[in-house]
Amino acid sequence: MSDLPNCPKCDSAYAYEDGSMLICPECAHEWNPQDAGAEEDGLIVKDSNGNLLADGDTVTVIKDLKVKGASNPLKVGTRVKNIRLVEGDHNIDCKIDGFGAMKLKSEFVKKA
Ligand SMILES: [Zn+2]
Repeated sequence: MSDLPNCPKCDSAYAYEDGSMLICPECAHEWNPQDAGAEEDGLIVKDSNGNLLADGDTVTVIKDLKVKGASNPLKVGTRVKNIRLVEGDHNIDCKIDGFGAMKLKSEFVKKA
């Protein structure tokens, strides 16, 4: 039980316990680790390496991806900030500079 989870807001690894709450010293987010599952709607989304992704994570695209309606592909190495997990085949909702709002498949990204 010494391994505390990262902050769900900013992914800081420096969260500390205060009673039953966890507090993040970097973004001042406070949360109850017991609630974590409920807030995520039970969605389990893993990246190409099998790491669990969470809302607000930053991921990197691992291969060039064609984008419907865009003249250029989304390039490998593109950083995608502040993702949102959604249900479905394309399970990451995000906004990418130059492309706008779009959806990605988690198998084509890795956690940054
Ligand atoms: Zn934080």
